[in-house]
Amino acid sequence: MNLSNLKIDKSWALFLDRDGVINRRIVDGYVHTWKQFEFHTGVKDAMKILSSVFGKVFVVSNQQGIGKGLMTEAELQVIHQHMIAEIEQAGGRIDKVYHSPFLEIEKSIQRKPNIGMALRARKEFPGTNFKRSVMVGDSISDMIFGKKLDMVTAFISVDKISIGKNHKLIDLAFPDLLSFANLFTSKAMYSGENYSDTKLLIR
Ligand SMILES: [Mg+2]
Repeated sequence: MNLSNLKIDKSWALFLDRDGVINRRIVDGYVHTWKQFEFHTGVKDAMKILSSVFGKVFVVSNQQGIGKGLMTEAELQVIHQHMIAEIEQAGGRIDKVYHSPFLEIEKSIQRKPNIGMALRARKEFPGTNFKRSVMVGDSISDMIFGKKLDMVTAFISVDKISIGKNHKLIDLAFPDLLSFANLFTSKAMYSGENYSDTKLLIR
């Protein structure tokens, strides 16, 4: 897949996973407080670029730490308020953050890889077209979520091996969000030059 063929413009929406894409994921744990929230390198620059390209920017985040009683809705809102404020300060934008507080075992439609959060976004922002949407995430469940909705999927991974057998779910792969965003600043995207040095174009 070549992004230039997609002709991404303001009619497109961007769906972003949070942990592992925007901020550093805490392995086997949860970000409970703003103090624990650490932006990945280059994410604020990436958000500035992506906000100028996509008509809508959504975050869709599983937060089962709430369902487990490890964090409250109010605590999560505080984190998101800070996150949005810092991204805005850097010239970027998040139109809306959706989260799922449910436990994996509850099999909620709101929990990725189920599609509830995307349906909420489309209801609230009726111009949203999933065929004109990109889902960016660092887990296979994000890619399944995207593919269920016929979105273009972009996998964030530093590890080519982890893509392996899942390649049918993944359209594009990048080491980080900034590498994805930088495609839109590069003339290469429009001239059709080979720009595969910094990312993997899967299919
Ligand atoms: Mg993640």
